Amino acid sequence: MIPVHTFNGKDVAVYGLGRSGLATCRALMAGGARVCAWDDNEAARKVAADAGIPLVDLNRRDWQTFAALVLAPGIPYRFPEPHRLVKMAQMVGVPVIGDMELFARAVSDLKEYERPRIVGVTGTNGKSTTTALIGHILRQAGKDVRVGGNIGVGVLDLERLHGGAIYVLELSSYQLDLIETLRCDVAVMLNISPDHLARHGGMDGYVQAKRRIFRNQAPNDWAIVGVDDVRSQVMCTQLSAECSRHVVPISAEYALGRGVSVLDGRLCDSMMGRASDPVDISGARALPGRHNEQNAAAAYAACRALGLDAREILSGIATFPGLPHRLETIGAIEGVRFINDSKATNAQAAEQALRAFPSAYWIVGGRPKEEGIDDLEPYFSSVRKAYLIGESTEAFARTLAGKVDAVKCRTLDVAVETAFNDARTSGDPAPVVLFSPACASFDQFRDFEQRGDTFRTIASQTARRFLKQTA
Ligand code: ADP
Repeated sequence: MIPVHTFNGKDVAVYGLGRSGLATCRALMAGGARVCAWDDNEAARKVAADAGIPLVDLNRRDWQTFAALVLAPGIPYRFPEPHRLVKMAQMVGVPVIGDMELFARAVSDLKEYERPRIVGVTGTNGKSTTTALIGHILRQAGKDVRVGGNIGVGVLDLERLHGGAIYVLELSSYQLDLIETLRCDVAVMLNISPDHLARHGGMDGYVQAKRRIFRNQAPNDWAIVGVDDVRSQVMCTQLSAECSRHVVPISAEYALGRGVSVLDGRLCDSMMGRASDPVDISGARALPGRHNEQNAAAAYAACRALGLDAREILSGIATFPGLPHRLETIGAIEGVRFINDSKATNAQAAEQALRAFPSAYWIVGGRPKEEGIDDLEPYFSSVRKAYLIGESTEAFARTLAGKVDAVKCRTLDVAVETAFNDARTSGDPAPVVLFSPACASFDQFRDFEQRGDTFRTIASQTARRFLKQTA
């Protein structure tokens, strides 16, 4: 745990007692703050009370004495409209911050030589993969590395700060909205496409939130920026024009005069000016698809910026074990491969899956995002058949009508069974049952992890049943 001393002896309100909220309370209390914690959910309050965290109904409390309100990232800060407690805090001039800002303040309280290095990773898609990949490469190279933030462990639950450590932090746009002083030695911004727009008051607000990852950077710091979409390109150009840090463009689409690109599995490093000979990284089994080439380019550039040599980085890329629920191969039966991409909660993510596995037997659906799957039309012609599940069934059936052979399965068990039987009897040389929902999971599952775990269980039950039948 990282104690936060900034509010020693002061009253601090903490609202939202999920994983990161509880860690926030512990870190503040360890640093001598008087915590007043609250959550509207009774079960969450009970967990906090059992952990010895003081609960105070913030709706009834006088706000004048608070030094800060620490807000969980899931709670609306500005849009669609500020949460009532945010309004109460702002009315009396209490600053509203997040756990990442507390981490930043704990770091700035240290002497320069005690300060760890910080790598921040953001972007619409690929944050977790890139964060985990950077962590893996650094760990393999023998560095003292801690990985957390929006992935795995909340930032304040990571091990104590010290000068030799490197913190690799995944930063969501919600978290970025709530930071002021965080300074990333290396800041990675992968890509931008529409997502969470309601929470940021539209596309401009979303882009501004992403841009906050580069705040406070000094001339020796590094900005690693994807240039494969227009908004990121603009951001990269603006950052370069500011001349206030090193800027490294990265791409999986274009050869770059200066930067890092991965094209058709070949990585080319011209970060320091002269281009290296391209290196084949296509053997990295856990990084299939063009999108992962973007992630690999970003991770490579970030680790180079931290001073690793190319050989160490390439060996880390080759041995990366991958993350569950992201184009994860769960196994094959009768030549049919099952791929779990439950983390594909929007169309852009599913697009990467359809590009990586053309001719797939595609299980798709859930609670649809505003933009649906219309943008995936260029890939429809290569889908062998679609299996529709969840709330989006009827809408997606209309989108796919006349373009893709689609069956309304509604539930995941029916979809897996049907897709497996179709794939097995198709005569295709290497058929793939691809679960890449392009939707949120909340209509039928708790979260994307539970959805992916369910897919894994059903796939193995289906395989077992098949083996029994044919024994
Ligand atoms: P995030 O943490 O940003 O949600 P993940 O690494 O968890 O990203 O990947 C989520 C999904 O997004 C994966 O299922 C994958 O299909 C897709 N994805 C991963 N990296 C990229 C990328 N660089 N560009 C576009 N899509 C990606």
